[in-house]
Amino acid sequence: MTQLEENLHQVRTRMAQAAAQAGRCIQDIQLCAASKTQPADVVRAAAALPIDLFGENRVQEMCEKHASAAYGSKPLHFIGHLQTNKVRLVVGRAEIIESVGSAKLLASISAQAQKQGIYQQILLEVNIGGETSKSGVSPEALWTLLEQAQQTPAVRVRGLMSIPPSCSNPAASRPYFARMRTLFEQAKRFSSDNIAMDYLSMGMSADYAEAILEGANIVRVGTALFGARSVPVNG
Ligand SMILES: *Cc1c(COP(=O)(O)O)cnc(C)c1O
Repeated sequence: MTQLEENLHQVRTRMAQAAAQAGRCIQDIQLCAASKTQPADVVRAAAALPIDLFGENRVQEMCEKHASAAYGSKPLHFIGHLQTNKVRLVVGRAEIIESVGSAKLLASISAQAQKQGIYQQILLEVNIGGETSKSGVSPEALWTLLEQAQQTPAVRVRGLMSIPPSCSNPAASRPYFARMRTLFEQAKRFSSDNIAMDYLSMGMSADYAEAILEGANIVRVGTALFGARSVPVNG
């Protein structure tokens, strides 16, 4: 077994344990491999393993790996901070853009999707910890953003995503995950032609088990699969 296979086995085992503890079906929970900084050959090897999808943070890096077919047949999500001037490179390449936290980005994605004649699936990113350093809509402003999304023809909102404040101990993340779960349930009231609250994306290497206990159905795991990143990457 390669190190990656061994790590994946451990992550899958813990995911299954958390799902069982929560009385949930493991098939309902997707593992997103957060592959930022990982070279194309590592990603290609991972694509052959039981990983549900890939998540990338940087547009340029994603485009390069996408061009070399590193993700194989696995879906690709964009999970990083997205600037409006790079939207055209991500729309149509990423199956879901998870990190949409403003009306401006929403409008820009919709305009680009319309230009390409496609519908772009997105998640709305919620800044659940109210951190000034993080992007995402505040919980209070989520409802206005959902109303805007209802009027935005070329996007399909599929759920919510969040990155809670980094906590020294994983149990400390649970209240944030629980608040996200509540918002997710409340947001289901906004279901319409282009809004379906299917996905709740939360939990990373340190706390994906806690996220599953609180209802996550996509967990985004990098370090626990690929090992520590040598190059630090922001958002
Ligand atoms: C890097 C990253 C992850 C994975 O982080 P790890 O701690 O390495 O598991 C998940 N989500 C986002 C948005 C990220 O940028």
